Amino acid sequence: MSDRQTETDVILIGAGIMSATLGTLLKELVPDWNITVFEKLATAGEESSNEWNNAGTGHSALCELNYTVEKPDGTVDISKAIKINEEFQVSKQFWSYLVNSNLIRNPQDFIRPLPHLSLVQGEKNVTFLKNRYEALSNNPLFQGMEFSDDPKKLMEWIPLIMNGRNSNEAIAATRIESGTDVNFGALTRMLFDHLKDKNVDVKYKHSVEDIKRTSDGLWELKVWNMDTGNIERHTAKFVFIGGGGGSLPLLQKSGIPEGKHIGGFPVSGLFMVCTNPEVIEQHHAKVYGKAKVGAPPMSVPHLDTRFIDNKKTLLFGPFAGFSPKFLKTGSMFDLLGSVKPDNVFTMLAAGAKNVPLTKYLIQQVMLSKEQRMEELREFIPNAKSEDWDIVVAGQRVQVIKDTEAGGKGTLQFGTEVISAADGSIAALLGASPGASTAVSVMLELIKKCFPEQIQEWEPKIKEMIPSYGVSLLKNPELIEEIHTSTGRALGLSSPELALV
Ligand SMILES: Cc1cc2nc3c(=O)[nH]c(=O)nc-3n(C[C@H](O)[C@H](O)[C@H](O)COP(=O)(O)OP(=O)(O)OC[C@H]3O[C@@H](n4cnc5c(N)ncnc54)[C@H](O)[C@@H]3O)c2cc1C
Repeated sequence: MSDRQTETDVILIGAGIMSATLGTLLKELVPDWNITVFEKLATAGEESSNEWNNAGTGHSALCELNYTVEKPDGTVDISKAIKINEEFQVSKQFWSYLVNSNLIRNPQDFIRPLPHLSLVQGEKNVTFLKNRYEALSNNPLFQGMEFSDDPKKLMEWIPLIMNGRNSNEAIAATRIESGTDVNFGALTRMLFDHLKDKNVDVKYKHSVEDIKRTSDGLWELKVWNMDTGNIERHTAKFVFIGGGGGSLPLLQKSGIPEGKHIGGFPVSGLFMVCTNPEVIEQHHAKVYGKAKVGAPPMSVPHLDTRFIDNKKTLLFGPFAGFSPKFLKTGSMFDLLGSVKPDNVFTMLAAGAKNVPLTKYLIQQVMLSKEQRMEELREFIPNAKSEDWDIVVAGQRVQVIKDTEAGGKGTLQFGTEVISAADGSIAALLGASPGASTAVSVMLELIKKCFPEQIQEWEPKIKEMIPSYGVSLLKNPELIEEIHTSTGRALGLSSPELALV
C-alpha cells in the first residue's frame, strides 16, 4: 500500500452534472488553476445525472404544478415558478456560450425542444389550473402558454392520453411549446470530455474516504484507488463535495460546523419505459399531472417523451420509494451511518414527523407491476402491460434540518449549498429542481466561496451569462434576446422564436 501525496488548487468530488458545471465555470474564469476530480465509478454521469436515472425535464416551471402553490384565497403564488424559470434561462445561456465557443458541440445530443403540458382532472383541479394559467400567461417568462378544457383540443395536443377516455369528469390542460427535454447524462459526459481537453485530471475508480483539514489550512483527502487497492492522500486549497447522495457523509467527515445538525432522507425512484414503437410515436410532450394527496413533490406523475441516444422513447413515473441507500450504487447502511451525535435528535424528529411519508414510500415500493399499470392508465387509458418495462431511477437524498418555520427535523425539498465560513470547502445537498439549475447553483457557490475574486470574475461571467445578476422579469427585452440567442445556439429556435 503506497501513500501518494499530490497538491492541487481545486478538488471536485464526484463526476456528476454539478462537478462538471463547476469545473467548466472555473476553467473559464481561471484557466491556470489545477483541478483534479475523483469519481468512484468507472465513468462520468453514472448516478443521478445519468439519462435513465432522472426525468430529463429542463425544469423551468412551465408544467410542474408543485412550483405554483394555491393560496388559501384560491389565487396562485408564482414566485417559485419565476425563480426556477430564471435559473433555467441561466443554464441555457451558459450552455449556449459553450456551444458558441466550440467548447462543446452538437447540442441536439443533450437538449431538444419539447412541449410541456400540465394535465388535471376534476372541477377543483381545473379551476386551479385555470387560475395558474391566468397568473402565468401574461408573464413574459411564460409567454405562449395556452389553456384548454375542450376535449377536441386536448385530443390534438395529447392523443395518446385522450384516446379511450370515457369519463365525464372535467379535464383541462395547459400547453407551452418552449419546453425542453435535457439529456443530463450526455451533457455531463460532454463537459467531462471538455475538462479533460483543458488538462483537468479526472480520476475514475477513486473513492474519497475521508476529508481532513491540515495544519496549513489545506484540505487533505484520503482516496482509495480501486484499481490498485492503494490509499492515496491528495491536498487542495478548495474542495467541492459534488457526490450527489454521497455528499452528506463526506460533509460530515470534513467536520465543518456548518455541516452539523443536518441529516438526509433517501427517496428512490422507478420509471416505466415503453417498449412499443407505435405507442412511443403517438406522444410528443412532457405531461405533468398533480401529486396525489400525501405524496411527496418528487413523485408527481408525468408522461414524457425522451430523447436518449438520439432515439425517441417514452417514460412514465417516477414512482417514489424508500431505500436506505444514498446512491443507486450505495450501501444499505448509508442512512444508519449518517446518524451522528450532532444530528441524532434532528433525525429522530424528522422520523417522527414523517411517518405518513415513510409509510407512503414503503407502500410505493411494494406496488406490483399491474398496480403501477393502473396508475399509468390514469394517463393512457389503453396502456397494455406487455408494452411497458420497469427501470430503476436514481436516488435523491432530501435534506433534513432544523428550521425556524418547520422546527426540528424539517424535510427540505430543494437544493442547498453548505460551505465553510472561509469558503475553502462546499457541498451540494438535495436534488430539486436539480440538474436544470446546476449553473445558477454553482454560480451561487462561487459567489459564496470566492468572495475576493468574484468582482474580478464578474465581467467574464456576464460575457457567458448576459442575465447574470439581473432580474429577467424586470427586463422583458432581455428575455426576448435570450430566447432568440439560446434558441439559435441550442437548436431550440422554432418554438422559442415563435414566442417572442
Ligand atoms: C428520479 C429522479 C428524477 C429527476 N428528474 C430530474 C429532472 O427531470 N430534471 C432535473 O433537472 N433534475 C432531475 N433530477 C435531479 C438530478 O438528477 C440531480 O439533481 C443531479 O443529477 C445531481 O447531480 P450531482 O452531480 O449532484 O450528483 P450525481 O449525478 O449523483 O453525481 C455524484 C457523483 O459522485 C460520485 N461519488 C459519490 N460519493 C463519492 C465518493 N466518496 N468518492 C468519489 N465519488 C463519489 C458518484 O458516484 C456520482 O458519480 C432527478 C433525480 C431523480 C433521482
